[in-house]
Amino acid sequence: TYKKMQTQVVVIGSGPAGYSSAFRCADLGLSTVLVERYENLGGVCLNVGCIPSKSLLHISKVVKDAKSLSDTGVQFLEPIVNLEKVREWKNKIINNLNIGIKSMAEKRNIKIIVGTAKFLSVNSIFVEGNKESVILDFENIVLAVGSSPKRLSYVPSNDPRVWDSTSALSISNIPEKLLVIGSGIIGLEMATFYSSFGAKVDVLDNSMYLLPHLDRDIVDSFYKIASKSFNIFLNSEISKIESNKVGFLVSKIVNQNIKEVKLYNAILVSVGRVPNLDSLEIEKVGLNVNSHGFLEVDDQLRTGIPNIYAIGDITGQPMLAHKGIHQGRIAAEIISGKNHYFNPYAIPCILYTDPEVAWIGITEQEAIKKDIKYESAVFPWNALGKAISSNCSNGMTKLIFDSNTKKIIGGSVIGSNAGELLGEIGLAIEMGCDAEDIELTIHAHPTLYESIGLSAQIFQGTVTDLI
Ligand code: FAD
Repeated sequence: TYKKMQTQVVVIGSGPAGYSSAFRCADLGLSTVLVERYENLGGVCLNVGCIPSKSLLHISKVVKDAKSLSDTGVQFLEPIVNLEKVREWKNKIINNLNIGIKSMAEKRNIKIIVGTAKFLSVNSIFVEGNKESVILDFENIVLAVGSSPKRLSYVPSNDPRVWDSTSALSISNIPEKLLVIGSGIIGLEMATFYSSFGAKVDVLDNSMYLLPHLDRDIVDSFYKIASKSFNIFLNSEISKIESNKVGFLVSKIVNQNIKEVKLYNAILVSVGRVPNLDSLEIEKVGLNVNSHGFLEVDDQLRTGIPNIYAIGDITGQPMLAHKGIHQGRIAAEIISGKNHYFNPYAIPCILYTDPEVAWIGITEQEAIKKDIKYESAVFPWNALGKAISSNCSNGMTKLIFDSNTKKIIGGSVIGSNAGELLGEIGLAIEMGCDAEDIELTIHAHPTLYESIGLSAQIFQGTVTDLI
């Protein structure tokens, strides 16, 4: 048996893209239904992504910072880690935010249906719920069904010691030796966390370059520092994995020629994510995916079908919560009749490792590739008072300017709180600031963000002091 309902807008998926779109739709006066297959709202980001990973990385940073204090004359004892309590703390954060999202939805009179949605037609979906099923007719639909971890066929999938990002975040144990396959953002963040909790971590990737889309100076600096905490093997692959009682014997070919067999107690596969489009049956309404399996949208988030919008991870890279949130809000504005566009100059990206790495806009390498005349300005943090006094002078701020217009077109930061520092650079790019605008903005002293003002001074040739 099923119920019949109708609404102006239905949003499928309650991740950051979906809930922000549903909230904005409701705020704009549209009757809105939010469909989610799980009881807990918030999607990957809140439940098994951004929030739990950043909670664990916060702990690992405090542990590392405390250790680094020994140089200052203050020494802490070795930390005692109670994994059960860590899990409890992390889950409490998630639960509080779950409740927050639910109450914000209820305040807006958004109807939440728990169940898995699939298309019946361009104006109707079937939602199969645990308790009851619903046929829901709608005027507009926003697809925000997100993504899931990609699997590797040669890694055993039914062994609890083989993890994806979700199982790694459940921190069931700290393995003595952990192999992370994939050196993308998720793999490196997990390597940071597990190594700081005592695991010996090897990260392996078949790519020639670490973080190939990032600025090379920043990556080189990151590689040097991160290699002190865990090993990174690039240009490497796995030829065999044999499981035994204690773990896995992994045969690797490192650097395309050195054969090595090593025992690991757990393996984390973090080689990318695939869109969750299977259950929706999009072929029923004639929607097609691109060659990477994602949905193509125009700058108003429309798919090829006028009343079907797609936002978030299912629209492809960059698969980041804030991209989805922004898209979700724009889709809502458009559905309500406003003429908005998703057309950012730049989308910020942050790697919450230790040190943190953050970047936005164009890198030097990209400028060269696109034949853009550019100049870069670098400010090393070993000449930055705040960094020196905070024991984090191994950072660097690098800005990229268009040589003709002097406008800022990109920036990368490595170092403590790099992600927070990126805010100024993002705003400057979006506002079309040139080097003089940044130079003439008074930056407080001593701060880490002062390095942005000083980089602009270096570009202008007006730098006066370096501490
Ligand atoms: P999702 O969050 O994936 O949500 C989609 C929802 O749709 C899910 O709840 C799913 O259950 C539901 N759904 C799917 N199919 C159906 C269906 N047929 N019917 C009903 N419901 C359905 N991004 C950042 O910006 N910063 C970070 O620090 C960060 N850290 C991350 C760390 C990890 C470990 C991971 C895995 C990801 C991280 N991300 C981060 C990426 C971020 O989580 C995603 O970009 C974001 O969650 C995508 O949002 P979304 O709304 O598109 O989809």
